[in-house]
Amino acid sequence: MTLWRRVLGDDRRQPEPPPPPAADPGPEERPGDLPCAATGCAETTGVGCAYLDRRGRACPTAWCPAHRDIAAGRVYCRRHAGVVRALAGGAGTRLPDLETRAPSLVEWLARDLGDDLGHLLMATGAGDAVTSEAAQLVDGGRAKEQIWERSWRLCRHTGFVHRVALQVAEGHDTAVVVRVGRREVARLTPPWIEARGRGEHLSAEEDARRRALFREAVLAAVRRGLAEVALERA
Ligand SMILES: [Zn+2]
Ligand SMILES: [Zn+2]
Repeated sequence: MTLWRRVLGDDRRQPEPPPPPAADPGPEERPGDLPCAATGCAETTGVGCAYLDRRGRACPTAWCPAHRDIAAGRVYCRRHAGVVRALAGGAGTRLPDLETRAPSLVEWLARDLGDDLGHLLMATGAGDAVTSEAAQLVDGGRAKEQIWERSWRLCRHTGFVHRVALQVAEGHDTAVVVRVGRREVARLTPPWIEARGRGEHLSAEEDARRRALFREAVLAAVRRGLAEVALERA
């Protein structure tokens, strides 16, 4: 009873506690005020892609929460998120040119093909473990090109036996070079890049069919290359 009265009669209002700070939704959800660059998206909640290339040029695109990609806690377009992930893998500090798809393409291919390449290396029976190396820039030799590479090694206690690499040059970022050792065993343009270049619109089935053919072509070239190296060494 006493308590009840005291509470009702108390005019010295406690100051309202400040509202708890709105939880930061994080880079995935944090809204911006720019038009989203995704085809057909009408959102104006875009946040600009955070990428700056080695010449200090910024990526001009912005992305709504549904269409943005996040890498290292920041908002990027898909291509530049791939670049930042590749760099996080140890590629050093030379940031690739804004327009190039080379590092993100090589990273994407590595994710798609890495397991199969590992199996092909193990299937030679010449070693007992496969290691993969993070994306790195390799010297383009005479051409003075920046070439992005992912590679896999088949190892034996004596050292490495075979090395397979996928390379994409910044200046020729529509072609994937496949190497077994130093030898180039294939140079292919991924079908989705070819289709885009020709302005072709592929059905989902046709896209999947061409992607499967492309993967098979890469793996077949590696298989052949490994067999040739084994023959030469025999
Ligand atoms: Zn969007
Ligand atoms: Zn970007």
